[in-house]
Amino acid sequence: MKCKITHELIVAAAYGELTDEQAQELELHLASCPECGKEREQLLALKTLAGAYPVAEPEANLVARSRLRGRRLWTRCHRAVGMDGWASG
Ligand SMILES: [Zn+2]
Repeated sequence: MKCKITHELIVAAAYGELTDEQAQELELHLASCPECGKEREQLLALKTLAGAYPVAEPEANLVARSRLRGRRLWTRCHRAVGMDGWASG
């Protein structure tokens, strides 16, 4: 599986939008790709922050907006800022 597709699966997984089959694919890829595993950790950490501080954290707004507008925009934003942008927002 290509990492580009995996990024989308990681985001979808964070929002519970994966089918069982997709979840399995993702787990398979994460088992052999430390980079994507790290990315998932970052996204889950971001999600946790967003849940704990829905108003104060700017990252929360980013997640909320992305969720409202859909994964496609999130992916485009992700491409624009590069992978490092996941951590800094
Ligand atoms: Zn990967």
